[in-house]
Amino acid sequence: MMENLNTMIKDLKKHALEENIPIMQDEGIDYLTTFIIKKQIHSVLEIGSAIGYSAIMMALADPNLKITTIEKDRDRYLEALKNIKEFDLENQITLVFHDALDANIEGNFDMIFIDAAKGQNIRFFERYENNLNPNGYILTDNMNFHGLVDKVDAEIESKNLRSLVRKIRDYRTFLVNNPNYQVEFLNIGDGIAVARKIEK
Ligand code: SAH
Ligand code: MG
Repeated sequence: MMENLNTMIKDLKKHALEENIPIMQDEGIDYLTTFIIKKQIHSVLEIGSAIGYSAIMMALADPNLKITTIEKDRDRYLEALKNIKEFDLENQITLVFHDALDANIEGNFDMIFIDAAKGQNIRFFERYENNLNPNGYILTDNMNFHGLVDKVDAEIESKNLRSLVRKIRDYRTFLVNNPNYQVEFLNIGDGIAVARKIEK
């Protein structure tokens, strides 16, 4: 059984790699799953499911964890559905097929994990922070964006990429200046921001 599960995970990762689906790196997954256990997180709202890999890994780390995850791409959503079924995790993971920029999610979560369109992080943050429990956490992936965020603009060739990188910098500034959260930037995987809501 254990052997089988490891094989299933390996196959899922391999498939994502082959299809160029940007799933979270091992280091990031290890951090997320350890974080969930250490901070006693019971519920997660994920923005950006892709094919369900990170949601599946979080669910496997804690059988009591409940995850709601939003994906706007139809093919990825369908594939995520299939994968969640294959891992037998339908009781733990609720998949929402919607654009997270205008979805309405009911309920509150101990943790929100933002891993979708990198230029829209402020909008995702502001849309869903009302769904965060007191003392909850908002984690965001790809804060370094393959090391580009700390490069000077002149070294980044494409204009679109420069614009995206500026938006990630703006999001860093937004987090640092947000008086309601205590923020840490970690050089784990592709860079993870951890924002803890400060109760007043
Ligand atoms: N968390 C996943 C990887 C997500 S990749 C993992 O580690 O396994 C980012 C995903 O976000 C893509 O599948 C993309 O389609 C989705 N996405 C981008 N913008 C979105 C939006 N506005 N609403 C919902 N999903 C979005
Ligand atoms: Mg990511």
